[in-house]
Amino acid sequence: MRRTIQILQTIYKIARLGGMPRLPLPSGADVVIIGGGVVGASAAFHLAEAGADVVLLERDQLASGSTSKAAGGLRAQFSDSLNIELGKRSLEAYKRFAERPGWEIDYEEIGYLFVLTTEAELDVFRRSVALQNQLGVPSRIVTPEEALKLCPLLAGDDILAASYCPTDAHATPESVVQGYAYGARQHGAHIAVSTRADGIDVVDGVITGVRTPRGTVATGTVISAAGAWSRACGEMAGVRLDVTPMRRQVLFTAPMGDLPAKLPLTIDFTSGFYFHREGRGLLMSVSDPDEQPGFSTETTDDWIPRLLEVAEHRAPRIASAPIQGGWAGLYDMSPDGNAMIGEFEQISRFLYATGFSGHGFLQGPATGEILRDLVLGRELFVDVTPMSAERFDSGALAPEFNVV
Ligand SMILES: Cc1cc2nc3c(=O)[nH]c(=O)nc-3n(C[C@H](O)[C@H](O)[C@H](O)COP(=O)(O)OP(=O)(O)OC[C@H]3O[C@@H](n4cnc5c(N)ncnc54)[C@H](O)[C@@H]3O)c2cc1C
Repeated sequence: MRRTIQILQTIYKIARLGGMPRLPLPSGADVVIIGGGVVGASAAFHLAEAGADVVLLERDQLASGSTSKAAGGLRAQFSDSLNIELGKRSLEAYKRFAERPGWEIDYEEIGYLFVLTTEAELDVFRRSVALQNQLGVPSRIVTPEEALKLCPLLAGDDILAASYCPTDAHATPESVVQGYAYGARQHGAHIAVSTRADGIDVVDGVITGVRTPRGTVATGTVISAAGAWSRACGEMAGVRLDVTPMRRQVLFTAPMGDLPAKLPLTIDFTSGFYFHREGRGLLMSVSDPDEQPGFSTETTDDWIPRLLEVAEHRAPRIASAPIQGGWAGLYDMSPDGNAMIGEFEQISRFLYATGFSGHGFLQGPATGEILRDLVLGRELFVDVTPMSAERFDSGALAPEFNVV
């Protein structure tokens, strides 16, 4: 019954928003956010809720960039303490999303299971789990037998151990963006879709406005949340956001009959092969070492033999399941596999959050909160100095080991 009411509420909210006539673009705002993926929408919600006057510019439709292509995985299992904090904070927000901002996102604690096959991997994961536990994340190293129990699709006598966290989860990415946009609008934010930011006006190091084909929005503060397209966004203001777009493809199997109702998002760490339940089938992917940087999101077949080869060994039932479809999206890669969140010093009030390197969906809620606090000069719940985009100028990298 609760679920039926939520579905009816969602249809009602979308119908209301969709039925609204297009409003003129405001001539000014406290903050202009460029990009309507999870990061931009989360920032818009957090800022509008705090009373800021916000305009979000999205050149296409909300969630049309990488966010709608994400596998929906949410985790706090990282090697870097800052990433653990961001994952943990975001998981808490996702868990309460139905109350704040008030939208159903199909949040489910399915757990993440990292399958480990080398002593070197196990060593790093042991240290990571100890750090995660210190920070309140209930992850643990499990035996091969327990790993097979948690995920009966697994096979292979080369499994040394696995790292498992039962509170890692899954949610629907498009719903998250729509939910944040709904919440932001409830607090007065203006969300302008089909509206591209074409230029940022800067006078003597101070931002004065953002140009679009529909007019200029006067503002003193810009947040760049342009995902894989962040480099161009930075260039508009004369700053360097070192983000490289890398295609990542996923496939779906046809319904697989007797899949366990609850299956962790399972990752073979050495190969990067992962899968999780998607309806009555599975979504799966593998990292492709031959992929070259670029903005193409066309799907190709050349990576599939490698995926099937790994699956044949690690989860043979998956290798023989019929394929029903797939898609390609972009990872927004940073030079060290870790996000860039902060504010440039050389220009007044240009903030950014990008370079998430495959884990931006899960860090979206915490990132929106941080951007709000940076804009409003509030105390941050965590120090994000190590994530400054300027770390690459000094070579002070903040590498994350656990990138899939
Ligand atoms: C196949 C795949 C699977 C993934 N799985 C996961 C996962 O399980 N968990 C996880 O955490 N992450 C995952 N990711 C990564 C995740 O999708 C991204 O890190 C995250 O969505 C980035 O969000 P974003 O808001 O920064 O960028 P985006 O969602 O790309 O949003 C940026 C937006 O900016 C807009 N834009 C760009 N330039 C302009 C401009 N000039 N004017 C106006 N608008 C502009 C774009 O149209 C776009 O909508 C996955 C990615 C892929 C491709």
